[in-house]
Amino acid sequence: MQTKYIFVTGGVVSSLGKGVSTASIGVLLRARGYRVTSVKIDPYINLDAGTMRPYEHGEVFVTADGAETDLDVGTYERFLGIDLARNNNITTGRIYKTVIEKERRGEYLSQTVQVIPHITDEIQERIRAAGKAVNAEIVLVEVGGTVGDIESLPFLEAIRQMRFNEGKENTLYLHVTLLPYLSTSEEFKTKPTQHSVANLRSVGVQADGLIVRSDTPMPEDMSKKIALFTNVEARDVFNAYNAEHVYAVPEILEQQGMGRFIEKKLELERVTRNIATWQEAFSILQKPDRTARIAIVGKYVAMPDAYISLMESLTHAGIAHRSTIDVTWINSEDCAEGDLSHLKQYDGILVPGGFGHRGIEGKIRVAGYARENNIPYLGICLGMQVAVIEFARNIVKLESANSSEFDDYTPHPVIGLMPEQLDVEGMGGTMRLGDWPMQIEKGTRLFDLYQPTGPDNIVTERHRHRYEVNPAYVEQLREHGLTISGVTPGMEGRGKGLVEAIEIAEHPFFVAVQSHPEFKSRLSKASPPFKGFVQAALEHQALNKNPLAAFEQGVANQNVTNQEPVKAEITELPKKDII
Ligand code: GLN
Repeated sequence: MQTKYIFVTGGVVSSLGKGVSTASIGVLLRARGYRVTSVKIDPYINLDAGTMRPYEHGEVFVTADGAETDLDVGTYERFLGIDLARNNNITTGRIYKTVIEKERRGEYLSQTVQVIPHITDEIQERIRAAGKAVNAEIVLVEVGGTVGDIESLPFLEAIRQMRFNEGKENTLYLHVTLLPYLSTSEEFKTKPTQHSVANLRSVGVQADGLIVRSDTPMPEDMSKKIALFTNVEARDVFNAYNAEHVYAVPEILEQQGMGRFIEKKLELERVTRNIATWQEAFSILQKPDRTARIAIVGKYVAMPDAYISLMESLTHAGIAHRSTIDVTWINSEDCAEGDLSHLKQYDGILVPGGFGHRGIEGKIRVAGYARENNIPYLGICLGMQVAVIEFARNIVKLESANSSEFDDYTPHPVIGLMPEQLDVEGMGGTMRLGDWPMQIEKGTRLFDLYQPTGPDNIVTERHRHRYEVNPAYVEQLREHGLTISGVTPGMEGRGKGLVEAIEIAEHPFFVAVQSHPEFKSRLSKASPPFKGFVQAALEHQALNKNPLAAFEQGVANQNVTNQEPVKAEITELPKKDII
């Protein structure tokens, strides 16, 4: 089958939810059995999202091959249930870098290198390559930014040319716009949509279909009016009104005939659809059996998009227990001193990943509070590092233990840099990134959660960090009761035996991992640590409602014997803060 391309552009304003619309279309196509992949185009000059602030731009999503990408790539992975790679995120920076490198190598010898055709050719080549890499039948291409932005122009020109090159029946243009409702005149306004479709036409792209975003469902006659002004047939105007939850969007679009529309335009055979998983998930979200109250203690609390994969993982884990998650964001800076007993009201505490010194003491204290008060705790990346620091300070009694990321002069750098990180000069793409294996120790909670198969009990999770638990302190930590439940298995010269996961055996649930399992969580396959955490939170909630059961649980916990320590293979002893 000839590869088909669906291009999604956006108009009027940014943050319209183009990523979710595109991903939802992917769900409908996947549900019909097509092999789908997707490409996110980000017209900024950065090579990748790795050096951008999460609280302005949202989360940096890490792919299995270690690319630091836009958060929409994460949405695609979760909605489509597939793994994407570096070549699924295209930026202006990457395109220009490649073209300039080709020019230096002499590949354009004798030519003047120009935006058209060299840059636009490179863009098309990359889009095609992303499809070829996985033998996709349909490639979804979302052009980031808004039509009319100067930096989007070469990309719009490239997708215009693609219809010319690939054929009309193999390309489809979908434009996402906004339909604002004016409360003063009590009506929906189509003018912004008219303008933005016209804007798109002015660069040679006539939209085949529209996805009109509105707060509430638009009246039926609206599509006729929009059709009149935009040259799009009324039945090809879809209304994505604000849903209770993003998981409802595929169904909303399907009910309006989106799947059929795409099949007709792209001359695809109709295949039976099956979006049962999404319908089921949505019905649980609407009518959950229970709700777990989770506190997330972090730095970017004002920008939830900075933790989008984390939130989705909690949602997936909740659904696996027919429950929803009620998240409270707590600014770690507010936890650095004073009473923390307000944390008692939560069923679980999660400390996510993060960088930099700000708010660190608060996170360390919160980890300690969860440990001492038997509140389920899940630590992700930095959340594991602070748990180790807290344990070192308060249980091993290593005064002022810290990470050398936060204190260069700490007498006890229980978290420090690996030798290969010491020589790193640049910032972009230089961390320990992407898929790394973790060997799980038998008899641990982590083992129960992952239930690894295969002789070596190895699982893979994605990483994005520079610092590691310092091997010089592992023995001491373990002697004082910290279970090392996962290590990086021997890989010649690559972080052999590094601590990947810890837990505390006597605690109802104190689990922390160096990786970011949230990047691999899927609706139909919740991430094991998240699933276990939510289960523990629900149990904690039930016990708190029933103090007698809580007492019995306490007695049972006291009888749990300490587990055999993991035989982590540690390469060499570090000097001071160098691992
Ligand atoms: N700042 C820590 C490190 O670089 C943790 C990173 C993270 O949480 N992603 O190791």
